[in-house]
Parts: sequence; C-alpha cells; structure tokens
Amino acid sequence: MPQLTIPLLAQRPETLVAALAEREVRCSLREARQVLSRVISEGRDDPTPQREPRKALIAALHEHATWARPEVMERVPDSEGKSVRYLFRLHDGKLVEAVRIGLLKPDCFTVCLSSQVGCAMACDFCATGRLGLSRNLDAAEIIGCFLTVRDEAPGRVTGAVFMGQGEPFHNYDAVVTAAQVLSNPAGGRIAQEAITISTVGLVPQIRRFTRERQPFRLIVSLSSAVAERRARLLPVAGRTPLPELVDALREYATVSKGRLTLAWVVMKGENTGDDEINALREGLVGLRYQLNLIDVNDNRPDGYRRVDAAELRDFLGRLQSLNVPLIRRYSVGADENSACGMLAATRVEAAAG
Ligand code: SF4
Repeated sequence: MPQLTIPLLAQRPETLVAALAEREVRCSLREARQVLSRVISEGRDDPTPQREPRKALIAALHEHATWARPEVMERVPDSEGKSVRYLFRLHDGKLVEAVRIGLLKPDCFTVCLSSQVGCAMACDFCATGRLGLSRNLDAAEIIGCFLTVRDEAPGRVTGAVFMGQGEPFHNYDAVVTAAQVLSNPAGGRIAQEAITISTVGLVPQIRRFTRERQPFRLIVSLSSAVAERRARLLPVAGRTPLPELVDALREYATVSKGRLTLAWVVMKGENTGDDEINALREGLVGLRYQLNLIDVNDNRPDGYRRVDAAELRDFLGRLQSLNVPLIRRYSVGADENSACGMLAATRVEAAAG
C-alpha cells in the first residue's frame, strides 16, 4: 500500500520518529526535536537543523514529509484594535477562520482556532451552524493556521482556544493531536492549561476526555437548562437529556479538580428567566463549575438580540443565588464577524462588493 506523506505540523518528536521508521528512515528523538523545533517552534519553512544536520535525514524529509500551511486570503482587524480575523484557504479551496485576540496582559495574545469547515451542531444562534458541516480539519491544518497567526503577532502568543468554526469534539482525534503539538516543547510551547477546548456538550467525548486525563481546559456550552429550550437552541446536543450531560460533567469535574467551566450565551428575553435559574439549581445540584456569560452575536435582522443593561443586571442578581463563580466574557470583533458564533467564512471584500 502506498504510504501517505508525513504532515510534520501534526507531529510530536516520538510520532515523527515512528512515522519515519515505518519508511525505514533512521531518526533519533534528538533529531526529531530539532526538526520540529525548526518548523513549529521557530515557524521556519526549512526543517534543516543548524547543528549537525544529517544529509540523509533531510533528504528523506523532503521526500516523505510536508510542512505547508494554509494560504492566508484576508486579515481583517476589528475597529477597536483588539482582534484580527484571518481567513485561510485550505488545499481543497475550503475557507476557515482563525482569530488573534489581545489579552489583558500587554503584548500577549491568544488564537481562536477552527476545528471544522462549518459545523453539524446547528445551534440556532450561530452563523457557523447555519453552514452545515463541510469537513473536518486535520491536525496539520489547525497547526498551520495557528503558526501563521502566531508568527504575525506583535507580541507573544500565550494561549489557544478551540472556539472557531466547528464542534471540536466532533473532530476529537485531530483536535487533541493539535493540542498536544501546541503544548509540546518542540512544538507550539503553549502551556497545557492555556489551551481551551470548547464543546456544545457531546457526552461520549466528554467521558473520553475525562478517561484519558487530557490536561487541557474544557468549556461546555450550556446556554439553557430547560429541556425544550435546550432542544431548540442546541438541537444536536439537546438530544442528550441534561441529567446524562451533568453525570459526565460530574466525572470530569472530579478528575480535573474543579476546572469545569460552563458557557452561557445570553439572549434577550430567551434564557434569562426564573425557569432557567430553577433548572440550573435543580439540574446541576452538587456540580462544581464556574459560569461564563457571553453576549450572543447574531447578525440576522430577526435573530437573537443581546440583553440590555437592566435585564442583565436582573439575571446576574438571580444567578448569584446559585453561589457559583460568574465571569462576564466580552466577545471582541463583532463588527468584523469574528466574534463567538459569527464565524462563517465570509470575505469582507466579497460582502462589500
Ligand atoms: S455554537 Fe459551536 S457547536 Fe454550535 S453550531 Fe456554532 S460552531 Fe457549532
């Protein structure tokens, strides 16, 4: 059977050594670290180590491996200067975004990454969900997007979040492989706890993530604890009854020692009522979590709207009765379609034209 090309951007030193061995190419762990440090840590277009490169190994890499990155089609900064949305074209012409986001710490950035082209989860408030699923990204494509954004950042990229196009747990293997490369000392050199994977709540994958003791952070998007509303807002994830999800989250919260974060996309007049507070109190009893509140970003004329200050104040006041830490998250980039729930591979040029 013909052997596939080795995607260098999806490798850790041990996997590169094994992949080359399958092709009867000798490579030590030290050499693999040097090669990957060149193309991933340093972002170079040449895997040749500066010190003592072995000609046979470099020739084999050129023969058996690839380290190409997706092509950048567009870079669109938001008007506040806090984020830049990148549009990438993949090898088959499909388009995905990544977004560079400034952190509170000066000159530090995180990168929001896509895991799929489109998404199959069909969340009612999300532009990506309306695209449907086109295909999964592979780990090398994810890392390729990350490297381009990182290399152009005017400071240090210290984190990565899987919150772009796609449901990361619907492409579990590629996302976990990418997270492992991102955190490898011969890879992206990002701290494991600074890598966040978001899921709409796919229970088998949450259980697998727990079982595998993955060290990355997990955010589970809940947005409603009332069964009928959950089923309408999150039609795929909402098929799993809340008690089953909560059971999986309990297991995760125990293993991860209280690192569980739930996200709540706040929608005016939709999911801020007493019924939600009661459902959270009853449905999540005994679960330790923190709740991140995120504004909805729906640009349809008849879409979901952001809450006004009075409704938000009221909702926050009633949430406090639950005694869970509340974090208010502000999306950046809403004016350039790069905020949470707005990534739909639109080109600003095309839209303007
Ligand atoms: S919110 Fe996330 S999971 Fe839901 S449709 Fe959008 S990208 Fe997919």
